[in-house]
Amino acid sequence: MPEPAGRSCGTCILCCWLPDIDALDKPANVPCAHCSPAGGCAIYPARPRLCRDFFCEWMTDARLGAEWEPTVAHMMVYRQGPQTTILVDPAYPDAWRQEPHVSQLREWAKAPEPEGGYVIVFVGDDVFKVRPDPG
Ligand code: SF4
Ligand code: SF4
Repeated sequence: MPEPAGRSCGTCILCCWLPDIDALDKPANVPCAHCSPAGGCAIYPARPRLCRDFFCEWMTDARLGAEWEPTVAHMMVYRQGPQTTILVDPAYPDAWRQEPHVSQLREWAKAPEPEGGYVIVFVGDDVFKVRPDPG
């Protein structure tokens, strides 16, 4: 389990909302049934193991600056093997296309190429593969 880099989720609930979570029968882009109207998780002490173990990249990688804080960026980042996944808040569909984020996404798409890495952006039902170059 990764160690948080001295960061806190604060009021963010993006990972309880943007991903599809099969174990909770939760589709993408809707709040988890356990999201509390007052904010946070209504079953926090008894939340499933997968929720306990999950941290987004902003929480675990200090190289992601303040601009990647999910509530600021309106998107969350996580990595699984060679794939870097960006889940964008559908209310801000162009957030990933704007600076400084888009340049960093291109760098991420470029850097892992020898290892076969890639960056995929999900915005609602739309899926994009980030190109390393602006073309
Ligand atoms: S997306 Fe990241 S910062 Fe937001 S609640 Fe999830 S782990 Fe915390
Ligand atoms: S169970 Fe709680 S922590 Fe897990 S996704 Fe639902 S609201 Fe979030």
